[in-house]
Amino acid sequence: MLVATSSEGKMREIRDALAPLGLELLSLTDIGWTAEIAESGSTFEANALIKATAVAEATAMAALADDSGLEVDVLDGQPGVNSSRFAGPEADDMDRNRILVERLVATGEPPPWAAQYRCVLAYVEPGQEPVTFEGVLRGAIVPEARGCGGFGYDPHFLLPERGVTVGEIPLASKQEISHRGQALRRFLLWHKARAAEAARSE
Ligand code: IMP
Repeated sequence: MLVATSSEGKMREIRDALAPLGLELLSLTDIGWTAEIAESGSTFEANALIKATAVAEATAMAALADDSGLEVDVLDGQPGVNSSRFAGPEADDMDRNRILVERLVATGEPPPWAAQYRCVLAYVEPGQEPVTFEGVLRGAIVPEARGCGGFGYDPHFLLPERGVTVGEIPLASKQEISHRGQALRRFLLWHKARAAEAARSE
């Protein structure tokens, strides 16, 4: 199965969660895909469908895509679908985290700033109706980075009830609670149910 992402962080989590499927999962990097896929949708669902459809059509293989990001309450849900782009094309994770915190400080609201991660997975198999799966993780953004686990905004994403950031917890704990972990478990259940249904009707 192809996974329509070049993000190493996402790929690590997707490979880990989908290991029970026993399938070889190939990222865009693995297949040498270099073409830009324009994420022109205004929702995570639309962009996940754009990515999965583009890759499934180009390769005639089943493709799974993740579109995800951070929605901050005091920024009315931004950066949202622009989470990877809002700080400009050259920015890396550290630049994005710094610019996000600067914006949040500028609101005048005291930290931590309530926020959530959202993930939508789209799965497209040639000749079949596309399907999508969603997950949301509530938390809050803190000004100082804490921990070096995960990727992206994780060192700034506080889990208030645990008093730690996602950057401070192991991958297995992140998978249990995260937006992507939830969406991946929903996909896994759907995939298993479909395989069982196919086996019954043989
Ligand atoms: P996409 O590749 O357009 O879906 O961009 C996703 C963006 O949201 C990336 O820049 C990440 O920094 C951020 N993001 C999504 N999921 C996570 C996560 O689990 N941890 C940290 N950042 C995330």
